[in-house]
Amino acid sequence: TQYVYRFGGGVSDGGQGDKNLLGGKGANLDGMAAIGLPVPPGFTISTPVCALYYDEGESFPDSLKTEVATGVAHIEGITAKKFGDPADPLLVSVRSGARVSMPGMMDTVLNLGLNDATVVGLAQISGDDRFAWDSYRRFIQMYSDVVLGLDHDRFEEALEIAKEDNGFSLDTELSASHWQKLVAEYKAIVQELWGKPFPQDVHDQLWGAIGAVFGSWQSERAKVYRRLNDIPGDWGTAVNVQAMVFGNMGETSATGVAFTRDPAKGDNAYYGEFLINAQGEDVVAGIRTPQYLTRAAREAAGAKPLSMEEAMPEVYAQLASVFETLETHYRDMQDIEFTVERGKLWMLQTRSGKRTAKAALKIAVDMANEGLITQEEAILRVDPMALDQLLHPTLDPKAVRDVLTKGLPASPGAASGYAVFDSDTAEKRAAAGDSVILVRVETSPEDIHGMHAARGILTARGGMTSHAAVVARGMGRPCVSGAGTLAIVAKEKLFRVGGREVREGDTITIDGTTGEVMFGAVPTVQPELSGDFGTLMLWADAKRRLKVRANAETPLDCRTAREFGAEGIGLCRTEHMFFEQSRITAVRQMILASDEAGRRAALDKLLPEQRSDFVEIFEVMAGLPCTIRLLDPPLHEFLPHEEAEFEEVAKAADIDVDTLRRRAAELHEFNPMLGHRGCRLGVTYPEIYEMQARAIFEAAIEVAERSGAAPIPEVMIPLVATRRELELMKIVVDKAAQAVFAEKGRTVEYLVGTMIELPRAALRAGEIAEVGEFFSFGTNDLTQTTLGVSRDDAARFLTTYVEKGIYARDPFVSLDVEGVGELISIAAERGRATRPDIKLGICGEHGGDPASIAFCEAIGLDYVSASPYRVPIARLAAAQAAL
Ligand code: ADP
Ligand code: MG
Ligand code: MG
Repeated sequence: TQYVYRFGGGVSDGGQGDKNLLGGKGANLDGMAAIGLPVPPGFTISTPVCALYYDEGESFPDSLKTEVATGVAHIEGITAKKFGDPADPLLVSVRSGARVSMPGMMDTVLNLGLNDATVVGLAQISGDDRFAWDSYRRFIQMYSDVVLGLDHDRFEEALEIAKEDNGFSLDTELSASHWQKLVAEYKAIVQELWGKPFPQDVHDQLWGAIGAVFGSWQSERAKVYRRLNDIPGDWGTAVNVQAMVFGNMGETSATGVAFTRDPAKGDNAYYGEFLINAQGEDVVAGIRTPQYLTRAAREAAGAKPLSMEEAMPEVYAQLASVFETLETHYRDMQDIEFTVERGKLWMLQTRSGKRTAKAALKIAVDMANEGLITQEEAILRVDPMALDQLLHPTLDPKAVRDVLTKGLPASPGAASGYAVFDSDTAEKRAAAGDSVILVRVETSPEDIHGMHAARGILTARGGMTSHAAVVARGMGRPCVSGAGTLAIVAKEKLFRVGGREVREGDTITIDGTTGEVMFGAVPTVQPELSGDFGTLMLWADAKRRLKVRANAETPLDCRTAREFGAEGIGLCRTEHMFFEQSRITAVRQMILASDEAGRRAALDKLLPEQRSDFVEIFEVMAGLPCTIRLLDPPLHEFLPHEEAEFEEVAKAADIDVDTLRRRAAELHEFNPMLGHRGCRLGVTYPEIYEMQARAIFEAAIEVAERSGAAPIPEVMIPLVATRRELELMKIVVDKAAQAVFAEKGRTVEYLVGTMIELPRAALRAGEIAEVGEFFSFGTNDLTQTTLGVSRDDAARFLTTYVEKGIYARDPFVSLDVEGVGELISIAAERGRATRPDIKLGICGEHGGDPASIAFCEAIGLDYVSASPYRVPIARLAAAQAAL
């Protein structure tokens, strides 16, 4: 097998640029070279080598040595330089690149090939001593950090001291001799920390770097990122070795990053930053404040330093034409890294750009309208989960704001929370249920867990393409970056700004759309659901087959659900209605009653309350199907648990406290999840379900009479295992219906069906469908009962299970298609065999999970039901599944 693929100088071994084989970076370097763009020559060691490296105890396959030598020869041939040649040395970068980009996870080594001899040659051949020694110190610093794993603070300290000693504030002020002196200091630090001199053999350097790239695949940071993003551990990373081009060769040289469209708002305008006389990492690390790419952006920001369009008009024009070529070629917004060496443009990377949900929507809709992509592609381009960002509130424009300062609007959306100053605290407080805003001078990959736990991120340093900004946009967290006036004292857990002090635990608000940072919590408003969002949803609705309903049990939830496009209620739980203060007493009297007459007396009090609940819900949902689940939880959930409460409850329910205690003890269950709950309540106390059914039908008729549009109640019996259970309950419901219809002289359409949430019910679905008119797959319980895993106790071991690949994803989040899914398929098939028009839906948490929705589409269910905020996600996912 071939391990090494060359690119550049008219060669493109990768053919069509296979990302799985070459990684994203390698495939696109190959792709750009193939369409004739200026790419420094190089080669890619393919991703399967990464797995081989680990399989063989962190060593390389035999033939790799010769293949790499061929790759180096390829670069030497094109550049007419020799690797390790003291007269005219070839320098390379060693870059990682997995199938999907993992920002900041894998480290790049630049300027590899420099040593005490080649640095002299480089100085001579370039005629620029300063450049040569700057490159060498960069190389030692990076190599020591990334490959040797030495403490990078020591190197930065040395640099800071060098600047201070000379009274400089910028790296660019240091001259050749300063750098030369620093190189000597760096080498001494390496000797001290590593116990050996800095490697002088360029081949040792190269193999060390290649090993380090593979090594970084198993770093903690990379593992965390993979876990958060569902990236399999066996994909591996590729290694790209590429001739260096130099952005640090003086004033006609530069380096930059750019997007072909605005990644925050989605506008069709170039967007980016560049730095003159700098190397790649400088822009991302926020060492100097980068300059704008376009004149328009510079003017809009009121910034002074010239934009690239103004400072280097010719190279800029060439870059702009490359943008157009790339967008047309890849048919997507591109995120580009480039370098200018003495006036010549070089392309170093392109990939589909990460973008906010807002930008994803706008770009997809715009590109479809421009004819660059089809409407179907536009639908497929937007990640349904990303819509979440758009559906959440933004700051109320009318609210009073106590603005502390303003930074860059790095990732849109607003968030309030306690200020915290380190990622571990952010994670801890978030786990305890607090909203937190992570405040850092700047973030690094070590902050991933804190950023994930935080509602929002605020940094004092770094531009729009800084680590914080890129990662926050990817995660959908609001972020304000580069708020330069913040004086953060992380050690004391506070920041100062404008004479004020904000300490850990104080509430602050950030607006990632405007860049504002405010003291206190600022009220928010609901998002705008028209515009591009509306357009894409319309396109999606035209393509999907699955209906989308909502899990909703309050009028507010129902209204939200309808605004988001729900086509009915898939699950209205009724137990929450019983917990209200005004009702709980009657519920308890019902539970504590010693006979049926006593229970009925209490239920009579609950009937009007329950009816009014349904009236409100049916008014919102008039004309639409509403699945209402009759009482499900074990009765003891309604009784007090704390000794302190018994007195009070006994008094309110008008019984003596000993009876209450005895009854509570009687109702105690060892395993309530499998105990006296669901239809077992209805079987033992039919009058409870009778009251609920009556409330449903009375409410339906009331709403039909008032508004003319009757809802279609679908009465759902929970936790059925056998045909007979459902049959008994259906008799109760039908009888209540007949009674109400006779009293009111009016009927409404309704169905009686069941939740399929026990394996037995799924298997016996054929006979259960003789009675049930619909099935709703209650996949939360069905997952618990099929896997034998308690949802409430699973947290302790499920993470490990997912890490070890036992389940690919948390089965309570994404359906276990192989196991639970097979039961659903069986039930659907057997149910339909008995009753061809049986209505089939899913109402577990999984109804809002795109992967699970794809499964529901594949087996032809009629609808999915999701929580209100997930309805648009489900609509889009359903359309994607249908395409
Ligand atoms: P990341 O995946 O973190 O973006 P890259 O491999 O893209 O890492 O490298 C980061 C930066 O290093 C690039 O944006 C580029 O500016 C610089 N770089 C990488 N390779 C070269 C090269 N051959 N010549 C000049 N600069 C390079
Ligand atoms: Mg990097
Ligand atoms: Mg890059």
